[in-house]
Amino acid sequence: MSSSMPTFRALFSRDAEVYADAPGRVNLIGEHTDYNGGYVLPAAVPQRTRVELAARPDGTVRLWSAQSQGEVASYTLGEERRDGTWTDYVKGMTRALAQHGALGGFDMRVDSDVPVGSGLSSSAALEIAAGRALRERFHLRLTDLQLAMAGQRAENELVGAPVGIMDQMASVFADTATALFVDTRTLAYARVQLPASAAVVVIDSGISHRNAGGAYAERRAECEQAASRLGVRQLRDVGIADLHRVSQLPSPLDRRARHIVTENQRVLDTVDAFGRGVLAAAGRLCNESHVSMRDDFEISVPEIDRLVAIAQATDGVYGARLTGGGFGGSVVVLADAAQARTAAAHIVNQYAATTGNAGRLLVQPEG
Ligand code: ADP
Ligand code: MG
Repeated sequence: MSSSMPTFRALFSRDAEVYADAPGRVNLIGEHTDYNGGYVLPAAVPQRTRVELAARPDGTVRLWSAQSQGEVASYTLGEERRDGTWTDYVKGMTRALAQHGALGGFDMRVDSDVPVGSGLSSSAALEIAAGRALRERFHLRLTDLQLAMAGQRAENELVGAPVGIMDQMASVFADTATALFVDTRTLAYARVQLPASAAVVVIDSGISHRNAGGAYAERRAECEQAASRLGVRQLRDVGIADLHRVSQLPSPLDRRARHIVTENQRVLDTVDAFGRGVLAAAGRLCNESHVSMRDDFEISVPEIDRLVAIAQATDGVYGARLTGGGFGGSVVVLADAAQARTAAAHIVNQYAATTGNAGRLLVQPEG
């Protein structure tokens, strides 16, 4: 949080009427499966985006964020148009939420400690925090599930990012104490308890994924082509038993589809491993997921591979993998709770010593 930043009153000459927040997330396993109708297993992170809001008597929206280091931006409700700035996420929300009730103009102040572009989904945290504030202030009639769907629509339609629904589901429903299993086809979800001896550590590689938009859209298109050639609606409909058919696809569709099919199975197997309390098995699945993202889906970068390798070789670590959309961002480490803090410090030091990059510890157990 940025305490030296202007308050709501300093920005808008009055006080806020409502306050809402929403967390970022870390995905434990199930990468790029959401837009294929598959399974994901994220958890909330402690970092949150906070929104203060007051209604205006006209149709004007005025926005300010502590993270954008800019002036107050503005637009008119009903005239939401993409301009490539952060305000597109809020415009996307007002456009999507207009279907759920009568919005009025408003002033909004945003502040967040969710790192931007590190793979912890600052974008969904912004969408959901803004959506919660708008729902409350304008008495919109929408469920939490519809709120998540509105966030995805904001990102798809106004921002122009063809993302699945994992990030918004996680920001709405996940907590930091459990993982959230989501079937992204049915949108059914369940909280999954991690064994008490498990700890989740997240380390930012320092390589921002900010310019990964084109590659993300390309992967999504490849998945859709693979599904169409296999004669299924989505790759979700292909199981491990059908991998021989997947291997007959032309390159690189064979590898792209193999990642999705095996990753879906790994999510199910991880939920099972957590349920049985077998962290060694969950760690192996985590490591296999990384290999699949690196070699089949090709969304890793050398620095991330290095960080993952260092983590995997560290005492007290069960497994490590790239987390988030890829091409930079963070690594999630499944560690033994008693050794997690020591392991995390060791990984960050080794990463700095061998690559010269400053990794940043984003999440580790308290204590
Ligand atoms: P992430 O993995 O962090 O979600 P994205 O590229 O999807 O990365 O979203 C990051 C973008 O979301 C930022 O470039 C910015 O436009 C917007 N954003 C997220 N959080 C904030 C914030 N607190 N203030 C302003 N913009 C934000
Ligand atoms: Mg995002």
